Amino acid sequence: MSLPKRTFDALVIGAGGGGLRAALQLAQADLKVAVVSKVFPTRSHTVAAQGGINAALGNITPDNWHWHMYDTVKGSDYLGDQDAIEFMCRAAAQTVYELEHYGLPFSRLDNGKIYQRPFGGQSTDFGVGQATRACAAADRTGHAMLHTLYQQNIRAKTHFFDEFYAIDLIKDEAGYVLGVVALEIETGEPLLIESRTTLIATGGAARIFRTSTNALINTGDGLGMALRAGFPLQDMEFFQFHPTGIAGVGNLISEAARGEGGYLVNSQGERFMERYAPHNKDLASRDVVSRAIISEVRAGRGCGIHADHVLLKMDHLGADKILSRLPGIRDLSRRFAHVDPIDNPIPVFPTAHYMMGGIPSNRHGQVVAPTATGPEEPVPGLYAVGECACVSVHGANRLGGNSLLDIVVFGRAAGSHMLNYLHENPYPRPIPKQAAEPALARLARWEKGGQGESIPDIRESMRRIMEDHCGVFRTGDSLRAGVEKMQQLRDRMSRAVLHDHSKIFNTARIEALELENMLETALASIVSASAREESRGAHSRVDFPARDDNNWLKHSLFFYDGQRLDYKPVRLKPLTVESFPPLARLY
Ligand SMILES: Cc1cc2nc3c(=O)[nH]c(=O)nc-3n(C[C@H](O)[C@H](O)[C@H](O)COP(=O)(O)OP(=O)(O)OC[C@H]3O[C@@H](n4cnc5c(N)ncnc54)[C@H](O)[C@@H]3O)c2cc1C
Repeated sequence: MSLPKRTFDALVIGAGGGGLRAALQLAQADLKVAVVSKVFPTRSHTVAAQGGINAALGNITPDNWHWHMYDTVKGSDYLGDQDAIEFMCRAAAQTVYELEHYGLPFSRLDNGKIYQRPFGGQSTDFGVGQATRACAAADRTGHAMLHTLYQQNIRAKTHFFDEFYAIDLIKDEAGYVLGVVALEIETGEPLLIESRTTLIATGGAARIFRTSTNALINTGDGLGMALRAGFPLQDMEFFQFHPTGIAGVGNLISEAARGEGGYLVNSQGERFMERYAPHNKDLASRDVVSRAIISEVRAGRGCGIHADHVLLKMDHLGADKILSRLPGIRDLSRRFAHVDPIDNPIPVFPTAHYMMGGIPSNRHGQVVAPTATGPEEPVPGLYAVGECACVSVHGANRLGGNSLLDIVVFGRAAGSHMLNYLHENPYPRPIPKQAAEPALARLARWEKGGQGESIPDIRESMRRIMEDHCGVFRTGDSLRAGVEKMQQLRDRMSRAVLHDHSKIFNTARIEALELENMLETALASIVSASAREESRGAHSRVDFPARDDNNWLKHSLFFYDGQRLDYKPVRLKPLTVESFPPLARLY
């Protein structure tokens, strides 16, 4: 089949903060850049980020990037790569000032400097005091960031393919990635987008869980694409559960609520975090707070008629502070929990939030993968940044405020590296004749209706399996049972059809394609979790409660055949400073 084709110098799949920051770097250098997004760019999930972006500006309390680096390494439970963490923390201040100059409307202190708030896991003097490091635009920081970056891209003449769904990457025999096959959602017509270099920035995948803080679009499409193109996924066992999702619903109440002075209480009115993290209390790292909440509920100290959640108390902060610093959180709470936090506490429970794992990449944003003949190397022309990538700066647990930083720092770095790549590779490589066939075959499968397994049923089963078998606390038996169920679900998916519509809408086809990607992501996550026999960061094994640095201080790699795992060492050596050796992680 001959496909309509468009040709660009650089292609960015995803218009969140990561994709837009990279695209801006390229468009400002006068390259022909395409950004493909399945939703209008400013609806990407970055828009929902509330609390802030970390940078050691020291506007309120003394700070420096080295303390930020220490906190990030410790927060990652020592699984983060220290060269990449140093790179990110050193680049943070410059990156935030750059955003300020692009027009990001940060909240201000009385002296005119950028407003900063305390967040979990942030310290001064290498763990001694509480740092105030998250730069914020009220509680709508991601919204402000995404709109700023979109406007700058419009100015720089980036070409947007809005509401185009990327199906699969195109490769040649030598392993070069040459673009993508996409579907125009409105018309249902496929399009080949050819490019000398491609960046995957498709965001997270927490929608594989039953309750999640993520948008409906966070379905791990980039991860599915990478696996089908022959690349592994790294550290997929590490999914972050945010301690304060609205109970029963999942919408996020940002850590900013606790940063501004809110705290958690159980049914006895006790401020229980004092027992679990005597020093940092409610601002301990997210994995620690999530486990504490679940332990309280399991011990019978939960709140509500089912005793199944705890309460986040904010009424002591006063209406003025809530209205000026946390207006969005108040709106969310009133709408979804029917509670006004000015008067009453919000019912909360841990909810799937953030994927620490993803497509293995380095600090230049290059995708790195094992070659057919030997050790890993950068894949020519292919890049990945943002939540879909694993650099790895978050290791086994991400600190709040570090993802918005990650997406802009590595978005910028990837854009710069892609510029070099384009200078060194000035001529397009020919696209092999059959290269688009697998993507078109995937699409063709969802063209007709019929009788068979249903997409919504399979999706619901997947989310239940992830919640029941791969949640905050995990055991070997339950994980193994979960892996088996997930494999059976894959079989059911092979028999799925779109149900007897006289007319099949493109939205239904896209839901089917998304579910294929979610199932691969879920399988990667549960298989990797089942194999890792230790507790580290967000991965908490009841049967292996201790961290085991002798055997498990290493990254996992999951391959497409569904079973094969490999491991690679953590890069413990930073770029210029001394390593932080693994220590017991106390808050
Ligand atoms: C509710 C919430 C609050 C958060 N608050 C904070 C915070 O305060 N601080 C912080 O540091 N982090 C926060 N995070 C995390 C952070 O916002 C995200 O990790 C980050 O914004 C992800 O950015 P991204 O560029 O990787 O992807 P996203 O912003 O998710 O964008 C992904 C893009 O990929 C596109 N896409 C995906 N699949 C396809 C496809 N098949 N074809 C075409 N396009 C596709 C989408 O259309 C979208 O444009 C929060 C997350 C959530 C969910």
